[in-house]
Amino acid sequence: MSILYHSTRDNNKKLTASQAVLQGLAEDGGLFVPDSLPVLDKSLDELKEMDYKGVAYEVMKLFLTDYTEEELKGCIERAYDDKFDTAQIAPIKEAGGAYYLELFHGATIAFKDMALSILPHLMTTAAKKNNLKEEIVILTATSGDTGKAALAGFADVPGTRIAVFYPKNGVSKVQERQMVTQKGNNVRVIGIEGNFDDAQTGVKKMFNDEALKAELKKEGFVFSSANSINIGRLVPQVVYYVYAYTRLLKAGTIKSGEKINVCVPTGNFGNILAAYYAKCAGLPVNKLICASNSNRVLYDFFKSGSYDKLHEMDDKGAFSKDRSFILTGSPSMDILISSNLERLIYHIAGDDDKKDKALMDQLNTKGAYAISEDMKARLDDFFGGFASEEDTASKIAGLYKDCGYVIDPHTAVAGFVYDAYKKETGDETKTVIASTASPYKFAKTVMCAIDKKYSDTDDMVLIDELNSLSGVKIPQAIEDIRSAPVLHDIVCATDDMPEEVRRFLR
Ligand SMILES: *Cc1c(COP(=O)(O)O)cnc(C)c1O
Repeated sequence: MSILYHSTRDNNKKLTASQAVLQGLAEDGGLFVPDSLPVLDKSLDELKEMDYKGVAYEVMKLFLTDYTEEELKGCIERAYDDKFDTAQIAPIKEAGGAYYLELFHGATIAFKDMALSILPHLMTTAAKKNNLKEEIVILTATSGDTGKAALAGFADVPGTRIAVFYPKNGVSKVQERQMVTQKGNNVRVIGIEGNFDDAQTGVKKMFNDEALKAELKKEGFVFSSANSINIGRLVPQVVYYVYAYTRLLKAGTIKSGEKINVCVPTGNFGNILAAYYAKCAGLPVNKLICASNSNRVLYDFFKSGSYDKLHEMDDKGAFSKDRSFILTGSPSMDILISSNLERLIYHIAGDDDKKDKALMDQLNTKGAYAISEDMKARLDDFFGGFASEEDTASKIAGLYKDCGYVIDPHTAVAGFVYDAYKKETGDETKTVIASTASPYKFAKTVMCAIDKKYSDTDDMVLIDELNSLSGVKIPQAIEDIRSAPVLHDIVCATDDMPEEVRRFLR
């Protein structure tokens, strides 16, 4: 079956998958969605006999129907190779009554590698298929992890350039060092004076700036996006939920057809939306547990049906308090505008583009919207929770003390929310927690959670401490940045982002 894509805000204009991958964001500001959500055409018992690449092909072929088998298999082959430090690609570790799906074994030790190691191949294949003449310029806003993973994916890929914008004071030391040491002839890393939402808004503006696009097109450049709004990011993320289920099945942990819960530490809603698409594709999933940090706009949404980026919900369910952007120890989830939620809004509105557009217009003009009772009823698949900074630290420390297993702060947000979910509902369904980053990437936060005595110790020293405490080998990505020289030091105001892009391309 062939699947076409259209904007969440306009059901009429259809694109092929490869065109949607190239374009990233729809022209009307909406996100591309498939015109119908595909269903697995192989049984889970068949899939459990395949390796990661095999499962990847079976899942991705359902969504990316205009790629030939040869093209898609070629992309998968080039992506999931020895850039990953384990042949399993995404191993599962049982600890403290949950199954941690480790999505951080790629080049930059965060889950973004799962999709960003294949996106450049999907994109350059799409460029060939569509006879694109221009060079592809990837513009990316990052809360820390996307940036490095995108840089690593696109560095020195012929026919592409990449510019990454990150909040100068809103990412971890390790994250920043990883980015500013990035090598490659086609890369640029720029800090901005603002938070992640400012960076994302600035990038979105450039995507919608017709004058800028026309000017650059004359010079042979065309923009695309590596952010999680791109279906080329979303689709590869569906794979590992199917993979995780089939590994549990193969190990005999679950029986054929048995439902699992999936708990995901969430920021831009991309990773958990992929889990929702996996459920829609037929994966036996009970609840999708959406875990937020103190920037709990999604928790408030799932509780109330109202999305309000300016006000926080109080105990009585009223949005009475001002909401402020909070810098947490899980910076990749410090987000108040959760872009991919728009896709869920579209689906629960019954694939209604007009309704979706009206709500998104309200978000733009008033900073808030409320969904109808009908739509709310369709949110039953989800449970929303959040973890404070103390909750997160206590989860890291507790799991380490009980099991000797060290998790990163993002994963700990999910771990804490899962515990709270279990307490609240009594649901004993086996649960996969998306483990989204290596603890090495956030060594300072992790070590201070385990013992406050580390609060004055240098990040790089803590890496050795973490190594002796956890017994987990220091990843190559960390070894690399210890000695690498800083190659990028530009900082700009958000208004100057287009000028920085011009400077980079000329
Ligand atoms: C990006 C990121 C998240 C959030 O994922 P979304 O798809 O934006 O919801 C969680 N944890 C880590 C470590 C990340 O890098």
